[in-house]
Amino acid sequence: RSLLSDEVEKAKGAKKTAEPTIFSKIVDKSIPADIIYEDEQCLAFRDVSPQAPVHFLVIPKSPIPGLSDAQDTDLQLLGHLLLTAKRVAEREDLSNGYRLVINNGPDGAQSVYHLHIHILGGRQMSWPPG
Ligand code: C5P
Repeated sequence: RSLLSDEVEKAKGAKKTAEPTIFSKIVDKSIPADIIYEDEQCLAFRDVSPQAPVHFLVIPKSPIPGLSDAQDTDLQLLGHLLLTAKRVAEREDLSNGYRLVINNGPDGAQSVYHLHIHILGGRQMSWPPG
């Protein structure tokens, strides 16, 4: 089985709950992560299962479960996450391009219910995504 299908299987079994996710534990530093950027509102860290030579996640410190839970009051935060993604991508030398992905809900293959933007780069991406 491919890594991709494992990830999709995991996502199908994931449930949205009120429990803190593993990403809340990364935010409060109770579990380790390879953090490459941090400010008051967000964190960027390397994905433990990279799907490209460069693969990191940008997450808000506040635990919004997914994009579909975001509200108008999150407008500034959402913009900040995107601008952080591009700034960290620059620092990671992705000047030839990169891809952002937000998986949302079961059909989107979301497995961790704490909003996160994937940033992938360092190789040629293909389209359509799986
Ligand atoms: O978008 P989705 O919810 O499927 O992605 C979750 C991502 O979080 C996966 O790419 C997984 O490798 C990553 N992850 C991580 N560190 C953890 C747990 C998951 O980087 N401790």
